[in-house]
Amino acid sequence: MLIDIDKLPKEGLTVNRDFEYPSAELVEEDAVFLKPVHVELIVKKYFDQVQVAGRIATVLRFNCSRCLTPFEYPVDSRFDLIYLPEEIEEIKEELEEEDVNTLYYTAPHLDLREVVLEQLNLTFPLRPLCAENCPGICPVCGVVGRDGTCSCTVPGADPRFQPLKSIMKDKK
Ligand SMILES: [Zn+2]
Ligand SMILES: [Zn+2]
Repeated sequence: MLIDIDKLPKEGLTVNRDFEYPSAELVEEDAVFLKPVHVELIVKKYFDQVQVAGRIATVLRFNCSRCLTPFEYPVDSRFDLIYLPEEIEEIKEELEEEDVNTLYYTAPHLDLREVVLEQLNLTFPLRPLCAENCPGICPVCGVVGRDGTCSCTVPGADPRFQPLKSIMKDKK
């Protein structure tokens, strides 16, 4: 959906619709769209700056990076971005200003579909987990801990619990 920057109404353009993308466009490998991306945002022009603000919501399926179990990952994210015309980028680079909320458009268009996909990809965790405390796969029997905890005893299987264990030992 190309927005013609020069034709934006003064009060801004309200966009309320769904965008569909092939799952291959997601940065997260193996991630799958379970729903189209619902977009509610406003595109407003201030001189040559374009503000894109609103929210995106969808549901994806990720594979847990620890136990490999697929799980649903709902996204409901708000953002408020400022797009500057591309020429200004060079000036900004000279000033060495860093602002993740300032981006650039190639006049005279802004591709809203791209903007939404970019923002969606930014919401993903570095390592998606089915649960914060996902125990992962048992290194002895290969069973996924969450589904049926196996009876193997794996000393020190999870390095994150090591400090806690040593504290408890000290107390004894
Ligand atoms: Zn998991
Ligand atoms: Zn086991």
